[in-house]
Amino acid sequence: MTEPVLYLQNIVRTYQQADRSLEVLRGAELALWPGQSVALIAPSGAGKSTLLHIAGLLEKPDEGEVYLGNEPTAHMDDAERTTRRRLDIGFVYQFHHLLPEFTAQENVMLPQMIRGLGKKIASERAGELLGYLGLGERVKHRPAEMSGGEQQRVAIARAVANSPRLLLADEPTGNLDPKTADHVFGALTQLIRATGLAALVATHNLELASRMDRRVALREGVVVELD
Ligand code: ADP
Repeated sequence: MTEPVLYLQNIVRTYQQADRSLEVLRGAELALWPGQSVALIAPSGAGKSTLLHIAGLLEKPDEGEVYLGNEPTAHMDDAERTTRRRLDIGFVYQFHHLLPEFTAQENVMLPQMIRGLGKKIASERAGELLGYLGLGERVKHRPAEMSGGEQQRVAIARAVANSPRLLLADEPTGNLDPKTADHVFGALTQLIRATGLAALVATHNLELASRMDRRVALREGVVVELD
């Protein structure tokens, strides 16, 4: 049987705030399968970013286990978590966080070179990915010379540069006008289908969410299936 790319098991996360503790996640469960795109829809403050940070090994839950493939991660130290993140997980945020002094191509090469690939291979892969995302003519441009939608497509190319198994995106089109958001989202879903990666995408945009394979929400700290 195929194993899930990501399995969140009974995730509990409580934040201590000044005068109270806030139980953001109260036993959240979620399995993501290869090639599947899942929209995470919930109002602000529901815990979407917390869930994505925990899924991305950026934050540890108070209880529960995060499995990447069939591998539990709770026992891993920081160095191992960083390695897993670098190899297995791609992130896309609302703001692109591209490095301004580097070209689009160099921004997509960097994670590959950090991983140890040579410049030539990294450069070829960056060129291919950017071409696939419709940015063939922009490879030598710096972020400031590109539109918001183009910058975000470069961020998507960077996120998948190391062929991760899991893509996590936090409001990836939240900062774009509807037409551009539509275009960027189309590029993202096409890439998910072509590469077979699993993606969890937090979004407020119901129209875009309807184009994904599956929709889930966070209610009272647990994941519920929509539809
Ligand atoms: P969303 O992404 O759905 O908007 P978040 O996961 O960012 O929700 O936040 C969920 C709740 O947890 C919010 O009320 C937020 O204020 C609180 N929260 C998030 N991070 C922290 C933190 N580090 N310390 C205290 N409270 C936090």
